[in-house]
Amino acid sequence: MSLLLGAAFAQSAFGANVVTVQQGGVGRWAGIAAKECGIYGKRYKAVDAVCYYPVDIQTTPGTHEIALWDQDGKQHLGTLKVQKADFPNVDMPLPEKLDRFLHVSQEDSERASKERGSIAKVLGGGSDDPRFSLPLGAPAAKLPKSEDDFGSERRFDQDHLSLHSGRDYPVGLGNPVKAIAAGTVVLAADHFFAGNSVFIDHGDGLVSMYFHLQSIAVKDGDTVKRGQRIGKIGGTGRATGPHLHLGLRWLGKRIDPALLLAKPTALPSVSDSKDEAQHKIEKAEHREPAEKDAPVVDDES
Ligand SMILES: [Zn+2]
Repeated sequence: MSLLLGAAFAQSAFGANVVTVQQGGVGRWAGIAAKECGIYGKRYKAVDAVCYYPVDIQTTPGTHEIALWDQDGKQHLGTLKVQKADFPNVDMPLPEKLDRFLHVSQEDSERASKERGSIAKVLGGGSDDPRFSLPLGAPAAKLPKSEDDFGSERRFDQDHLSLHSGRDYPVGLGNPVKAIAAGTVVLAADHFFAGNSVFIDHGDGLVSMYFHLQSIAVKDGDTVKRGQRIGKIGGTGRATGPHLHLGLRWLGKRIDPALLLAKPTALPSVSDSKDEAQHKIEKAEHREPAEKDAPVVDDES
């Protein structure tokens, strides 16, 4: 009897359709078969009947209303709480050969500014139906553990700071880079900071980006399949060595790509029990400090 009462109390105290998500994370609303989802005044499709709510790396802690429309079109409302994440600061002096990325010439500065313009046009993603399922596919055949570098503020010298909004995977030079899901190549070009870059739109506002490639095997407008080779690992642009930088935007929000490469059930969900919610928060809070001498650098600006 008391056990039942305890469960009922936990449900009512914590079951008011609330989910807590860290900056750069993704919330989930499982338990009701969903057709469409809403947050930030946007309405978009559910992925395999589940709603996901991306939270930008720099979202101010606070609450957002979330919505879910079930298969019968009935609307359910909930609350997403944004929790501040504890991202590391990393000192990362650049070697002399990369000096042109610190003391940028007028010409390079104009070039980078033009590139930012073309990048900004594709980062919001299209509103097509999702062409992906979760988890996403790995971007390399053998994907090593990334540096725990998502969200880190990198200090190249006293005057140059950069927010790292993706993850770096130490995959070796020349290895194939693979599309993490089906989609359309919306931008494939050589950029000043990011080197050879590929941006893929996967529908539902999800865009993936792959930087510092040695070579690019696709072009603007190409349709790609999940796992298709889109280029080779390199160290072009502002990179101290070969690696893959993977970035993700969902509804324009910068999110940790590692979260969508893992099982979606690990994401915090509206349907979590109090214990599950607590466990997921603790797990997200437990971040190892990034290595002081992390060997690679870049950003997406
Ligand atoms: Zn990177």
